[in-house]
Amino acid sequence: MFGKSRTLNAGLVSERPECNIAVLGVRGSGKSALTVKFLTKRFISEYDPNLEDTYASEEIVDQQSVLVKIMDTADQDGPVHCERYLSWASAFLVVYSIDNRHSFDGSQQYLDILSTRNRGLKPETPIILLGNKVDMERYRQVSKSDAGAVASRYGCLFFEVSACLDYLSVQSVFHEAVREVWRE
Ligand code: GDP
Ligand code: MG
Repeated sequence: MFGKSRTLNAGLVSERPECNIAVLGVRGSGKSALTVKFLTKRFISEYDPNLEDTYASEEIVDQQSVLVKIMDTADQDGPVHCERYLSWASAFLVVYSIDNRHSFDGSQQYLDILSTRNRGLKPETPIILLGNKVDMERYRQVSKSDAGAVASRYGCLFFEVSACLDYLSVQSVFHEAVREVWRE
């Protein structure tokens, strides 16, 4: 599950690892804000909710260079037409918002689809459950223990972050996704 791109460099062919991360979740959970934060270190508060795009960033993870491609998805009605990312991704980030129970329920629809797809796949495609908007702690509707229980039921990692707080926490989630791919 770990792609490599070939670049011609002064006559030498070098192989550069690539990792495709699909960012999934219900509308409004902060997929675009997290993607933009990872790519630019900045929080952009208003983002076109219908915009779906794929970006690339050259990253160093554990002293190794890797081209990370990120598909910031924008499903209209949950995981309905999902072939475009199911076949593309080497890892999935399933985002919900800790201040919105509905987004957490929606994230489980994604986990269902992904775990069904993973069944029988070797290696399985890593999945990370990601609670966003921890800056909204006062309005929390999803406890850490509920989310942790769901994550362990689906056999995925679980983190909480905020797209509008520190950059390093957001970066570390994307880097952890790359490590998960390497571990497969
Ligand atoms: P998407 O539909 O999943 O791509 O969600 P967006 O990235 O467009 O974000 C939806 C809304 O949530 C926007 O108004 C963002 O400003 C807001 N938002 C995103 N991330 C955070 C966060 O970490 N904290 C807070 N307070 N708001 C956020
Ligand atoms: Mg978006």
